[in-house]
Amino acid sequence: MAAFTDAVEEVRRRIDIVDLVSQDVALRKSGRNLKGLCPFHSEKTPSFHVNPERQIWKCFGCGAGGDIFSYVQKRDNMTFSEALEWLARKAGVSIERTGRAGRAQSEKEKILRINAVACEFFQEMLLRSEKARAYLAERGIGESAVGKYKLGYAPDSWDALTEYLSRKQISLSDAAKAGLVIARGGSEGYYDRFRDRLIFPIFDTSERVVGFGGRTLGGDSAKYINSPESLVFAKNKTLYGLNFARRAIVEQDRVIVVEGYMDAIAAQEAGFENTVATMGTALTEDHVNILARFSRNAILAFDADSAGMAAALRSSSFFERAGFNVRILVMPKGEDPDSLLRRGDRSRFASMVEKALPVIDYKVKLALAGHDLRTDEGKTAALRSAAAVLAEVESAVERERLIKYLAKYHPNFSTGTTRAEDDIRSEVELLRRRLSRTGEASRVREDSSQQRAAKPNLLERLEKIVLGTIIAEKVEAGKVFEVLPAKDFTGESTRQLAEALYSQFVELGKIKPESLTTQLAGTPAGDLLTDLTIGFDESELNHPFEEVVRAIEREKKKLRHARMRALARKFQEGVIKKGDEEFEEYWRLVRELKGIGVDNSARDSESDG
Ligand SMILES: [Zn+2]
Repeated sequence: MAAFTDAVEEVRRRIDIVDLVSQDVALRKSGRNLKGLCPFHSEKTPSFHVNPERQIWKCFGCGAGGDIFSYVQKRDNMTFSEALEWLARKAGVSIERTGRAGRAQSEKEKILRINAVACEFFQEMLLRSEKARAYLAERGIGESAVGKYKLGYAPDSWDALTEYLSRKQISLSDAAKAGLVIARGGSEGYYDRFRDRLIFPIFDTSERVVGFGGRTLGGDSAKYINSPESLVFAKNKTLYGLNFARRAIVEQDRVIVVEGYMDAIAAQEAGFENTVATMGTALTEDHVNILARFSRNAILAFDADSAGMAAALRSSSFFERAGFNVRILVMPKGEDPDSLLRRGDRSRFASMVEKALPVIDYKVKLALAGHDLRTDEGKTAALRSAAAVLAEVESAVERERLIKYLAKYHPNFSTGTTRAEDDIRSEVELLRRRLSRTGEASRVREDSSQQRAAKPNLLERLEKIVLGTIIAEKVEAGKVFEVLPAKDFTGESTRQLAEALYSQFVELGKIKPESLTTQLAGTPAGDLLTDLTIGFDESELNHPFEEVVRAIEREKKKLRHARMRALARKFQEGVIKKGDEEFEEYWRLVRELKGIGVDNSARDSESDG
């Protein structure tokens, strides 16, 4: 256990949070902190702070915060032990594992190791396959790309990989868990999942092979197959090429999303390095949230009539919720990014990227496309479908822009633009009123829960100031806890944090807030610790600490007076009587607040201010 804790501390010492975060976020100096746009929520002004001194981060927009471990956990969707393992590898620290967490880890590790072995096998097989290499040459994929993407070939055989893994002493039932081999029904043994296919290893953002995609080079009716879901591979959370694209996405603040492996490779190789692919699945909310860590400007470059495009349009609400600016690249019929780029149409693709349409314009275009705009009936029907699209647009400015655009399709356009615009506008407004009636109930519920959450409490604020003062080392922790014991803090988070700081102080003779971040991660005290360390209003910390302690005592006294008065009222109203616990509490308060032995009646205490 001690070894484990040491390893955690060693990783913390070796990895600088600023280096780590800078891979995803452009940070700028701001006082003692660095500031940037939060990778975890949508924002236009930076509220994401990193404190190099304490090695922690905090977003004041969405409230997320923590240390290097929680940052990687949140960014890459990892558990603590995965994040630790990844960071340890980066830092060159080795970790001993025991217990249940150790076993769960090794199961995952096993699959990753088998994937790595299989990846090498497929690469080796590609070198030996004339056919596969000819295919790649024909698709314009050169040697360097083959190496970079670790492309491979699965031979036209039922057991080539199965045999290879057996020779390497790898358990085939583990290989089956990795999705590489399949158990034979009825009889003993396993057979290869990928046969006669070009292999695209799929990497996670930590560059590990989590799965494979295979394109048939024979006549198989399934053009592409992927690894099945496994402990390490979830299709709807994985974007192909993201490991190569992430830096470019952050730098250019824009991501291009394509549908296939070939599209992603062709685009990245042609210099559109900020490209990722969905691997034939619809874009999910998870995909969108993963992309949101890197940029909130997305361009969807799907085949115009593909299922992927239809799904992308349906998923635009995910993008909106995540605060994305999404544009749609309108691909010529029958083309995809790979086919365009393979012909060397780099500049054409670049200009298509620049001319990509906002989703709403694309939807309006689609709404009009289904109708015959040469006839009045066709125009009327087209405008009705377009009005339904506009009704969903929240921004009034956007609606007006589109109403002006649509006016020319109005049957009466020739008699006056204003009239046509008014007609469309009233149709849109009518639809919006209908929509808002259905949406209202849920909004009301949201409002009331927000009100409940915001209830300021002076005592807790004062306690936070005291803790902030300790953490900023403006006062020695021991001095504070002498007059204000940790167990006497009244707030849940303030007491937890005070107790953690106190036990650290007892153990080490000093406080070390940065090594508490892991221990307290995910608790109210952990959130408070990052709050107090980063961005806590400096002026609050300049009150002499004795003054704050006195204010706390005054505040506590006030609360006790209030409690005493409330109990006196209860006594008068006959709610409590002699012998009740609350009656005893009342007399205890009277003695404490007025001095022992004072023979005051309940009545007198009521007039007390
Ligand atoms: Zn945030």
